[in-house]
Amino acid sequence: MTWSSARCVRCAKTAPASAAARCPCGGLFEIRHAFELGGAEEARARFDGRLALRRGSLSSGVWRFRELIAPDLAEESIVSLGEGNTRLYELPALASELGLARLAFKHEGENPTGSFKDRGMTVGVSQARHDGARALACASTGNTSASLAAFGAAAGLPVVVFVPRGKIARAKLAQALAYGARVLEIDGDFDDAMALVSRAASELDLALLNSVNPWRVEGQKSIVFEAIQELGWEPPDLWVFPAGNLGNASAFGKAFRELEALGLIRRRPRLIAVQAAGASPFARFFERRRADPKAAFEKQPGAETVASAIRIGDPQSWEKAIREVELSGGRVLAASDDEIMEAKARLDGAGVGCEPASAAALAGLQILARSGELDGGAAVGVLTGHFLKDADAVLSWRRGAAPGSLSVPARFEAIAEALTAILQGS
Ligand SMILES: *Cc1c(COP(=O)(O)O)cnc(C)c1O
Ligand SMILES: [Zn+2]
Repeated sequence: MTWSSARCVRCAKTAPASAAARCPCGGLFEIRHAFELGGAEEARARFDGRLALRRGSLSSGVWRFRELIAPDLAEESIVSLGEGNTRLYELPALASELGLARLAFKHEGENPTGSFKDRGMTVGVSQARHDGARALACASTGNTSASLAAFGAAAGLPVVVFVPRGKIARAKLAQALAYGARVLEIDGDFDDAMALVSRAASELDLALLNSVNPWRVEGQKSIVFEAIQELGWEPPDLWVFPAGNLGNASAFGKAFRELEALGLIRRRPRLIAVQAAGASPFARFFERRRADPKAAFEKQPGAETVASAIRIGDPQSWEKAIREVELSGGRVLAASDDEIMEAKARLDGAGVGCEPASAAALAGLQILARSGELDGGAAVGVLTGHFLKDADAVLSWRRGAAPGSLSVPARFEAIAEALTAILQGS
């Protein structure tokens, strides 16, 4: 039985669910499902019942929702590393500081390879293997390559990743290499790598596993499903996240629309997408369009930011993402690198921790708070990557600004003196 098909978001042409990443018209495909769930109560009960599973693919935080993600895929075709089931951290002190009634962060750094990319990759790789792919490829600012390398290894398929040379965090490169991917270090930026891998995929018969692949988007919807389930199927007012290539913006909007259409939630939150100011073509588009409703989307050459995971000037999913932000009544913000790193320090200091790009979510909320736009509602932020993904960013940012470290001779008297000073708060 076939429940899923693909449809181009630009020209509405339909295609089999195994469709390549792009329609001949240049638009992206979106997966459409004929959901077979029964009523909302029954569906909630089914998903809640699976929370107790400890083994098997349905214990994954992605595949628990398989009827909403890839209903056609047989369970034995699933390539899973136990992704999802990440924690939702409540931060009440930060909430009241910002003027919110409630604030929680979904920590996607707790996925098997340390970022949310695993949620899309388990679905994209399962589907690609099911469709007979002979090799898998992606371009990456780092986390996509680490994730694809791991899932490709688990699937027993060769992986080639295209990364901008010298521009990805060392831990991410190490992961891709260690999981056995062939790494092509491109003498250019992410946007160059993306253009090259797209061409290589279509001319050399490689399955493209960037988020232009509509199955990646299906998997990433589970961040929303899991958080909403954990909140007792009660959505927050704001859903806040960092935005680079705009796959997540596309996935989150689709997820909330589907939950509402199925009667699993009664209202949708506003999507708040936060870019780094130095890599903000999406934010600039919304800004320009306020003056000119006919303004076209434009890429931003030479994008630059400390948040390397969102250092993207030519986001692939802009068309889907514009629609999702609009349908949610949402906003797109741009945060400076200082704002992002200060927000990161807050999250690190709360014991939660994340990589720089992830902190853009909090930086965005701080921007809204400063302009008096937070009025006591509830917000959920998505922390996209693990702290250890980019430890160098902490050590090199404003070196010496962090007062934590102190050089002390290896003598007890010197230690005692230093400790006395620390404990007295001087
Ligand atoms: C990939 C990534 C992003 C950007 O997500 P998009 O879906 O490309 O907008 C943000 N943060 C981290 C840590 C990432 O790895
Ligand atoms: Zn089309």
